[in-house]
Amino acid sequence: MKLDRSEQLNKEAHNVILGGVNSPSRSFKGVGGGTPVFMKKGKGAYFWDEDGNQYIDYLAAYGPIITGHAHPHITAAIKAAAEDGVLYGTPTAYENHFADMLREAIPSLERLRFVNSGTEAVMTTIRVARAYTGRNKIIKFAGCYHGHSDLVLVAAGSGPSTTGNPDSAGVTKNIAEEVITVPFNDPQALEEALNYWGDDVAAVLVEPIVGNFGIVEPAEGFLQTVNHLAHSNETLVIYDEVITAFRFMYGGAQNLLGVEPDLTALGKIIGGGLPIGAYGGKKAIMEQVSPLGPAYQAGTMAGNPASIRAGIACLEVLREPNVYEKLDDLGKQLEDGLQKSADTYDIPVTINRLKGALTLYFDTTHVSNYEHAENSSSQMFAYFFKQMLKRGINLAPSKFEAWFLTIAHTHEDVEKTIKAASDVFSNWSNE
Ligand code: PMP
Repeated sequence: MKLDRSEQLNKEAHNVILGGVNSPSRSFKGVGGGTPVFMKKGKGAYFWDEDGNQYIDYLAAYGPIITGHAHPHITAAIKAAAEDGVLYGTPTAYENHFADMLREAIPSLERLRFVNSGTEAVMTTIRVARAYTGRNKIIKFAGCYHGHSDLVLVAAGSGPSTTGNPDSAGVTKNIAEEVITVPFNDPQALEEALNYWGDDVAAVLVEPIVGNFGIVEPAEGFLQTVNHLAHSNETLVIYDEVITAFRFMYGGAQNLLGVEPDLTALGKIIGGGLPIGAYGGKKAIMEQVSPLGPAYQAGTMAGNPASIRAGIACLEVLREPNVYEKLDDLGKQLEDGLQKSADTYDIPVTINRLKGALTLYFDTTHVSNYEHAENSSSQMFAYFFKQMLKRGINLAPSKFEAWFLTIAHTHEDVEKTIKAASDVFSNWSNE
């Protein structure tokens, strides 16, 4: 596979874009270095790079592209939005309509606000929780990533862990002290933390189904216990559903699991590929936010018609029958094929999958928390990643990320992917 143009563009990028990339996860630091592939076009389940190579894509832009690239319905909505002007700075009917769609799908969003990214959404839920409770601290779970605002860059999985910075420099000690980190799926650790710091804990922040040290589901009853422990301490519960909302069903992980948080942060899928975030929750809590209350949040780009119309179009596609059945079906085929092939060639793997999202860990230990995920082999993942890329399969360049299927993938694409993996497993070498 020729990658001359990507190599050239990467060199040029380094002269002007810090580190050559606009988000650290896109560098190949987590897979031992190398040149990131510069993609030129995406359509459906496929990418074409600057050298003309074709790939089956499982990155899905780290999650948002659940309908496949350039889905015609979403593309039409974006085109129409461009024709009508992309930014007004006034309210629009589209925002009302989209907010209604979201609340219908996720009823705990009694009131909500649109912002521009998952980072902003989570950051603001924390501010609102502090305003409402008059408390300072939050509890988060080790390895969960909640964007790059100061408070949550402590024990952050995903990109920060991949690049070796789970605790970011530049976050002051005072801020880091406001964050308590406990292991996911460990109710006792949460209880102890709440007993110790309880009267100053504003919120427990959690990805209800983890997507940032791979796909990790909560143990039976874990989220119910989180709610119970938090609420008996007058602490709020915030779900970061930036990855999970509309990922596993038309609605949130909270619908799927039958538990309700006080506040929810959304992003990724709800923008249909354009920049977006949203946060919301119980009316009485949300009324803390300006102009009704004293907690400030604003945005020049917030609720812009282009993102909103793309988001509406994306949900319209996801509301069609059998979308999630299809994702589950493809996911099962992929999981079964990868597992069978790894077993055939004695490659130690564990696959965590829920519907159309899965993570392949190079380890046979069951992965239910960050420590397990961290202990899976980075070296084996790096080798596998690069060999798959050479065979035209585009994965996220990190052992902590998920593979995302889209509704554009076919059984044939998955079969080709399994074949590529078998080929890698059968020629395995750690050199
Ligand atoms: N929360 C979660 C669970 C995420 O996975 C991410 C992004 N990977 C974020 C928040 C931050 O979202 P954004 O990158 O849009 O700021």
